[in-house]
Amino acid sequence: MAQIPKDVIDQIVKGTDIVGLISNYVKLEKKGRNYFGLCPFHSEKTPSFSVSPERQIFRCFSCGEGGNVINFLAKIENISYIESVKRLASKLSLNIDNYLGDNINVEYQKYYDLNKFVLDFYRFTLLNTTEGKEALKYLENRKITAEEINYFKIGLAPDSTDTLYQALKANNFTELAMLELGVVTKSESKYYDKFKNRIMFPITNEYGNIVGFSGRIYKDSDKSEAKYINTQETPVFKKGEILYNLDNAIRSIREKKRVYLFEGFMDVIACHRTGLHNAVASMGTALTPEQVNLIKKYTHNVVICFDGDSAGIEATKRAIELILKHRLNPAVVTLPEGLDPDEYISKYGNNA
Ligand SMILES: [Zn+2]
Repeated sequence: MAQIPKDVIDQIVKGTDIVGLISNYVKLEKKGRNYFGLCPFHSEKTPSFSVSPERQIFRCFSCGEGGNVINFLAKIENISYIESVKRLASKLSLNIDNYLGDNINVEYQKYYDLNKFVLDFYRFTLLNTTEGKEALKYLENRKITAEEINYFKIGLAPDSTDTLYQALKANNFTELAMLELGVVTKSESKYYDKFKNRIMFPITNEYGNIVGFSGRIYKDSDKSEAKYINTQETPVFKKGEILYNLDNAIRSIREKKRVYLFEGFMDVIACHRTGLHNAVASMGTALTPEQVNLIKKYTHNVVICFDGDSAGIEATKRAIELILKHRLNPAVVTLPEGLDPDEYISKYGNNA
């Protein structure tokens, strides 16, 4: 296991606002010098969970759980101690790579950084170019608001053969990494942008790292092409292991103690519009055991909201079986036949 010096640990513990961090998960109330709330680690009706900002620790007097910020984050996010150290260090902009050795997540960081660059490029293109204006018009017609564009970090891949490639190259990203992540393709020793003329939706993992993209056509002239193109399987993107919007939804899933599961990410965006923030999407694939395990980290209650067509009904049946097998509680929202959730929400809005 990686050895992280004690003074680095101390720096993280002292540098992190323990009340702020825990408040992301627990509603805290100040009483005297300490803060109190309902323990997130066992079920209770009266608060026995306390946080001491002076001593930088938390403790539950009922179940005995306690420790510092690193212990708290590890426990509540169901991650390793090292992973917790890494996340808190990165929030404080502390570089701890030297202590981690050849940890696989450090390896992944270069992919996340590249994808983040690509995301920023797409977002800039959408918001600051002439082409972007046309794409924004399209989004507006689809009733997608500026707030949603910002929240879901929607962007635009321009009508260009290699602008993104050139930008990546100018910023010292390697061609190998570009190809591995599927943002660039290679043909006869030339490099081309993979996505062109498409509205780009980033796909994140549960920790908010960008792992891939889904690109949708928006011009009438492109109607002969595939409506959506997704990132291929890459070192950081395995389709059946991702739930769209999970990172944004975690807090609301915990609060509401349930998750709404959709097939497509447009459904999740439509939900957000009606104030439903605990929604995720399996992204068109049949629900997988990996996705159920992801859900299980945050809630045991899953409301399945697949399409009302026959394929959707079949997928719902299989999802129920899988959810029961993992000892979670499934529920189903049945939509009128042939209507997909995005249409349903647009039609019936908040009452959905
Ligand atoms: Zn407790």
